[in-house]
Amino acid sequence: MTAIKTTTKNLQELKKLGISSAEELLMYFPRRYLDFSKTKHIRDTRPGETVTLQVTIKSIQSRFSFKSRQTLCESVVQDSTGYLKVTWFNMGYLAKTLKIGDHIALAGKITNFKGLQLVNPIYEKIEGDMLHTGRFVPVYKLPGTMYQKTLRKIVHAHLPLARKIPDIIPPGTRRSFALPDLATTIQESHFPSAQEKLYSVQRRLIFEELFIQQLAVQENKKLRVLLKAPNIPANVELIKKFLSTLPFELTGGQKRALWEIMKDMEQSVPMNRLLQGDVGSGKTVVAAAAALCAVRAGFQVALLAPTEILAVQHYETIQKIFAKTTPRVKIGLHTQSLHEIDGKSYSLPVFKKAVNNGSVSILTGTHALLAGKIHFKTLGLILVDEQHRFGVRQRQYLLSEENRSVTTNMPSEPYPTASSANRETRIRSTSIILPSEPYPTASSANRETRIRSTHFLSMTATPIPRTLALSMFGELDVSVLSEMPKNRKPIETRLALEEQRLEVYAFLKKQISSGRQVYWVLPHIDESEDEDITSVKEKYDELLYGPYQDLKIGLLHGRMKADDKNAAMLTFKEGKTNILVATSVIEIGVDVPNASCMVIENAERFGLAQLHQLRGRVGRGAHQSYCFAFTEAVEEESLARIKNFTTISSGFKLAELDLENRGFGTLFGEEQSGFFFKYSKYLTMKVLQESRQAAIAFENSDNLKNHPLLEKMVAPLVEKVHLE
Ligand code: ADP
Ligand code: MG
Repeated sequence: MTAIKTTTKNLQELKKLGISSAEELLMYFPRRYLDFSKTKHIRDTRPGETVTLQVTIKSIQSRFSFKSRQTLCESVVQDSTGYLKVTWFNMGYLAKTLKIGDHIALAGKITNFKGLQLVNPIYEKIEGDMLHTGRFVPVYKLPGTMYQKTLRKIVHAHLPLARKIPDIIPPGTRRSFALPDLATTIQESHFPSAQEKLYSVQRRLIFEELFIQQLAVQENKKLRVLLKAPNIPANVELIKKFLSTLPFELTGGQKRALWEIMKDMEQSVPMNRLLQGDVGSGKTVVAAAAALCAVRAGFQVALLAPTEILAVQHYETIQKIFAKTTPRVKIGLHTQSLHEIDGKSYSLPVFKKAVNNGSVSILTGTHALLAGKIHFKTLGLILVDEQHRFGVRQRQYLLSEENRSVTTNMPSEPYPTASSANRETRIRSTSIILPSEPYPTASSANRETRIRSTHFLSMTATPIPRTLALSMFGELDVSVLSEMPKNRKPIETRLALEEQRLEVYAFLKKQISSGRQVYWVLPHIDESEDEDITSVKEKYDELLYGPYQDLKIGLLHGRMKADDKNAAMLTFKEGKTNILVATSVIEIGVDVPNASCMVIENAERFGLAQLHQLRGRVGRGAHQSYCFAFTEAVEEESLARIKNFTTISSGFKLAELDLENRGFGTLFGEEQSGFFFKYSKYLTMKVLQESRQAAIAFENSDNLKNHPLLEKMVAPLVEKVHLE
């Protein structure tokens, strides 16, 4: 590790970002880039164009504008082709920093306001290496007080050290897949020399991440032969009886998926299946039927949800659907703040005991369930809803020491009589590995020594392509619910412009007076996240004191306490609030059939798949439902995207569009989704396939043992993939 050369104050700021060595500094890649690569003459600029100009300052002064209540710094600059006006807002000090006659570069967007001018351009004195203008300029995530310009300078000064950082991608793999080496990647991702260079290093960054992931998948494959899951008979009579208590008939897709799942669970090979189906396609009831089979065969079932709201909802749904068929089956709920069995709260020790002695048959919960030292007696099936929503940290939780006891505490059968300390470590490291393909023709001796595992079913409304699914979940099978339940009315979706706002408000009022309810979703919780757009809190106040004074309005966002969140959701569910103003926390899974309207503000801030998920919150009952997507976007591309959303009702089609246009990142709502690829923004189908090929080729011709650095990266993922 090499020390960073800079001021003490800067070092402190960097430390806050988790950067304490030159190596870490160089591996702190930009979040985005400003394209100031187009250097032009003043005469050739056009409005709307982002450019760099090399100019001389002819005049500069600052003044306070009473009209806009801020300090303006105004300047006229000149190059060989003409003059241009420049204005900076709230940067009065510039009039002292920049002097008449200074030769500077200015980068920014040309606007047309009483003639062409540059507003708030970035400036840089013309000398030495230009870091802030005239090129692709890196923009880092910098939550503290450090300036972008400062970090750029520090990074630039340390670039020569890039050669010293070892490259974990083996040279053979780099050659086969034409990947730039790490030094080039570092250099070009901080200060790209050209667009193509930038693409090529971004490809390498995501490739590296995927390659590690795929190696882990391959490693896991080798371990799978050791696992054994309980045989859960396909109890057709029981399922028929259960289905006859439902108020609807299963769709063909649901029947098929359920059959596939039941067949899987009969095997001693642990099921590892993904149940994919658009929002509202009815995944829950399929999962519930599978759970019923497992419970009837004497096994416990864990149902994991990514949010507490969803966990509580599953808990209630499962209670309801089993009330008729199997009233004696005990159903539990475990989240950070709640531990209930059949509607009654218990102290944690009592609750844990009930799970441990097997009297709770189905345990719903959030990841708290796996981090909370909960030991099952006979866990046979794990169901996970919206799996990709489990963020990196949650995934680590799932694999934490405590959780391993999930496996080691499953004394449903005596352990196979096999050997050794080695086995013990295997058990620990393989916890819940979930193979699905037929066993490789393992020898019978091998079969004897398999390690107890559980069946595993994950559910998602995100149409994850198979190759990506393999990478996320390890080897797995997929069931798809391709049809929607009958009699679903399509949700009428409109792009709503600002001038139609009052019209929409009036429409909503009518819906509410006829008994319906409304979701109102905004991208941010409060103003601090982005001043330019209305936040949840602002909208809540606006509605409370504005057009809907006489109505009951609820508030729901991720920073509320768990109890308050549940209360807000519950009052909405019970119809006691008319409007629920929320962030996209409600995006996943929430089921309130009486809600008929979804209003989405700043729709341009959401990915298509995410918009679709939001829309899926309505149209769940008998009522015609509506979705209004407000947008302030003016760019052609954003508008086209939202128009697609209004005309296309299939989540799968929308996701495909997102994939084509913006890569995989958008599928998962960018960062807040907790989707675990750091560079998912750059993820494409092609690089995904390539990384898979590379991992397979590596496993066939080489060994991780020869690449200790790489092995170190893969090792923790081997465990991670296991649980998935
Ligand atoms: P998702 O797949 O998004 O998780 P849910 O399981 O929440 O969907 O189901 C959405 C709604 O559709 C629920 O209210 C459920 O009871 C209902 N439902 C499920 N299957 C059918 C069906 N075959 N026919 C009619 N309604 C159904
Ligand atoms: Mg669901």
